[in-house]
Amino acid sequence: MQTPKTSYPEQTNLPALGTPPIYRGRFAPSPSGSLHFGSLIAALASYIDAKAHHGQWLVRMEDIDTPRVVLGAADEILTTLEAYGLFWDEKVVYQSQRHHLYQEVLAELTSAGNVYPCICTRKQIKQRGGFYDNHCRNLQNPVESNALRVRQNYPINQFKDGLLGKVSIPEQIAQEDYIVKRRDGLYAYQLVVVVDDIEQQISHVVRGADLLEPTARQLSLFKQLHHTPPKYLHVPLAVAEPGFKLSKQNHAPAIDNKAPLPALKAALSFLGFDSTELSHIDTVVDLLSWATTVYLQTNLPQHREIQVNQLNASEYQFQPL
Ligand code: GLU
Ligand code: ZN
Repeated sequence: MQTPKTSYPEQTNLPALGTPPIYRGRFAPSPSGSLHFGSLIAALASYIDAKAHHGQWLVRMEDIDTPRVVLGAADEILTTLEAYGLFWDEKVVYQSQRHHLYQEVLAELTSAGNVYPCICTRKQIKQRGGFYDNHCRNLQNPVESNALRVRQNYPINQFKDGLLGKVSIPEQIAQEDYIVKRRDGLYAYQLVVVVDDIEQQISHVVRGADLLEPTARQLSLFKQLHHTPPKYLHVPLAVAEPGFKLSKQNHAPAIDNKAPLPALKAALSFLGFDSTELSHIDTVVDLLSWATTVYLQTNLPQHREIQVNQLNASEYQFQPL
C-alpha cells in the first residue's frame, strides 16, 4: 500500500476498507484498434471509480462485431492496460466465446412473443423520419435473413446518471423496437452488453457519454429481463471537434506503451484531477494510487464532451464544450 505524500480530503461517499466487495465495475473495449487517448479515459475512469470503492474491476472484450475486429487488437489493448498499471481482477471474457448466453436470452424473449423479424432497410427508416416506427411489429415476416427486433414494452425516456444527473432521451428513441440480432446473424450490441452485465454481476458502469442513449435501451432491457440494472456514470467524451469522438478515423494516435506517464497524467487532468499535484508524481503505480485516494465523483467534469488537442507527444490541451 502506498503512503500518501500529502494530506488528502476526507472521503465520505465511499465504503470503509474491509467491507466485502459489492462493487463490480468493468471496462469493455471493442478490439477494432489500439487504445487511444479517448479509450484510456474510459478505462481509467472505470478503474479509479472501482478501486476507490474497494471494488473489483473486470475487462470484457467486446469482439462480437467480427467484421470490425482487428486481428491482434485485443492482445494489444491488454498489453497497453498493463503498461498503464490497469490490472484487472478476473479472467478477461470474450464476447465471441459467449454466443450460447446470448442465444439463451434471445430464445427467452422469443418464446415470450417479444421478438419479431424486421425487413426494413436503413434507407426506408431514414425516409420515414429517421426513427424506427415499429413498422413490422405485427407483420409475419420470415426470420430467415432478417434482423430481429425486440418489442419495446418498457420505454425509458429519462434516467439518473451518477455524474450528469437527470438525462432525457427523445421519445421516438425511447419507443423504438430495437435490434437484438442483426440481419447478418450477429447479436446486437444492446443485447450482448445487458446479458454480459447481468451474467458478470456488474454493479457499476462507468463509461463515455457517447453511450447515454444506449443506456436508456439497456435499462429497458434490464426491466424486460427482470434484473436490477447497474448504476451508470458517464464521463465526458474526448472529442477531436464537437460531435466527433477521438477515433482512428480522425487520427487519434495509439497511446505509447513505453512511456505511459504523459498520457496517464493528461487523462487524469482531463478527468478533473489537480494537474499541479499530479505533476510531481513520477511512477505509474504512485499516480494510480494517488488518484484512487483523492478521487471524488463530484470532482469529475460535468460535461458531455471535452475537446482534446494533442500539442505534442506529452502535452494536451482541453476545452470543455
Ligand atoms: N464496447 C463499447 C465501446 O467500445 C463500450 C460498451 C460499454 O461500455 O457498455 O464503445
Ligand atoms: Zn421493420
